[in-house]
Amino acid sequence: MKERIRIDTHAHTEASDGKHSLQSMIEKAIKEKFTVFSITNHLWYPNGNWETDLERIQEEFCHAERFIKEHATEIRVVPGAEITTSKWHLVLLGTDFDQLSRYLSHKENSFDLKNILPWAHDNGVLSIAAHPLAIRGFHSMSLKKLEEHAELLTGAEIHNGEFHRRMPHKLYELWHYEAKKQIGKLDLIPFTGSDAHRMKDIGMGTEVTVSGLIDENTPLIDILSFIRKGKNFIPIIPKK
Ligand SMILES: [Zn+2]
Ligand SMILES: [Zn+2]
Repeated sequence: MKERIRIDTHAHTEASDGKHSLQSMIEKAIKEKFTVFSITNHLWYPNGNWETDLERIQEEFCHAERFIKEHATEIRVVPGAEITTSKWHLVLLGTDFDQLSRYLSHKENSFDLKNILPWAHDNGVLSIAAHPLAIRGFHSMSLKKLEEHAELLTGAEIHNGEFHRRMPHKLYELWHYEAKKQIGKLDLIPFTGSDAHRMKDIGMGTEVTVSGLIDENTPLIDILSFIRKGKNFIPIIPKK
């Protein structure tokens, strides 16, 4: 059984630096026909207090689960976070937050890519380089970093909503083609993340063919495996 689904692997709510509530973000994602949606609020380290951030992220995910149950919708919210590793933004999907907390507090240099990527890999957590290859800033992984970690990374963004909204069109296209080329060469899964901080920014995402049905009863582990083994990742880019 094959199914074409829409996924958005990157969004923020007001529990982090987003502008809107979790409920309104999920409602908009349902309206835009997403099957899989992830709230990936920031785990700021080293500037903030990661324990508090993680608690908030976990709480927000519990609210999401409750909201979905109460509204009997078929959208699935996958637990996630956008973690500021030593320097770079990395989206983690399918995280067991207690396990993540134990890992972060017990392992030395736990925020280093060279430690967190093997941890994610061994624990079935998908790791996606957020908005990589930006010319400067944005906590963006360079080509060297991507190459160094390609074996353990699940994928990387080749489209990112924040870049799309902020960059002049020509510059955005240049970034996108470069990202697409390099990520293809490294054989990483090409994701499109809305990186939505407001309701109206939801709509960007990835359409992917998965080898199974995703509904309210599908175990998280299967959803993650469907995404990982999905085929034909097609970016969904709404008109500006
Ligand atoms: Zn980011
Ligand atoms: Zn983000």
